[in-house]
Amino acid sequence: GPPGTIALQARGLVKDFRGFRATNAVSLDIREGEIHAIIGPNGAGKTTLFNLLSGFLRPTSGEVTLFGERIDTLPPHAIVRRGLSRSFQISSVFPSLTVRENVIVALQSPTSLPRQFWTPLSRLEALGPRADQILADVGLDAAHARLAADLGHGEKRQLEIGISLTQDPRVLLLDEPTSGMGSEGVSRVIALVRQVARGRTVVLVEHNMSVVAQLADRITVLQYGQVLASGSYDEVRRDPRVIEAYLGE
Ligand code: ADP
Repeated sequence: GPPGTIALQARGLVKDFRGFRATNAVSLDIREGEIHAIIGPNGAGKTTLFNLLSGFLRPTSGEVTLFGERIDTLPPHAIVRRGLSRSFQISSVFPSLTVRENVIVALQSPTSLPRQFWTPLSRLEALGPRADQILADVGLDAAHARLAADLGHGEKRQLEIGISLTQDPRVLLLDEPTSGMGSEGVSRVIALVRQVARGRTVVLVEHNMSVVAQLADRITVLQYGQVLASGSYDEVRRDPRVIEAYLGE
């Protein structure tokens, strides 16, 4: 879209769980092409917000729009079809398939289709070149023939991101992509997120502030289910409310 296009927008998102307000009137604009980090103390509502943005939860009130179209009433697979994919903290990888087979399966399977309806892998070789491109994009080309079960923690994350790229999303949501990684893995994920962000919009939940500082064009800080601050890393880290929230954790 034209410069300044809003890719993903939340307006007044409220989510109540049996009387507990997990997000409270959250509004945010994710600009097309940016890397946007959602940060905040544990329990701030980050996961709930991701679930609302990706259709895994229905808001109690409020709206979500993707490139101007309402998506908060749609099921997750319909949201994926409209261009928003999410890479899960919890693995969507099939351990008994190879890395390449995992990508091929993901390329042919609409997320809504039960597994028994999927096409046998042997008939899917036509998808090979696209799978290979995705594996190159996420840095797993050399690992293509390994069983997913044998991948290291960081490599599994790379594969999960590759699987979400099979839907060719315009907007990619990443759930704590560096969690559980050592410094080498973290550096690799930073490079990977930069790579997949080319020509896309990326929203990530991330705890590691050094990663946020290196990657995020803009940041939204949540606390107690509300937006505490938003802006660039430098704007946000100098905000007295943010300093207080983090020191008080
Ligand atoms: P974060 O990801 O920032 O740690 P969450 O979105 O997971 O925060 O949780 C925000 C708050 O909502 C927490 O207090 C959590 O206990 C509560 N919460 C989240 N999901 C549910 C649920 N399904 N039922 C009840 N409470 C929930």
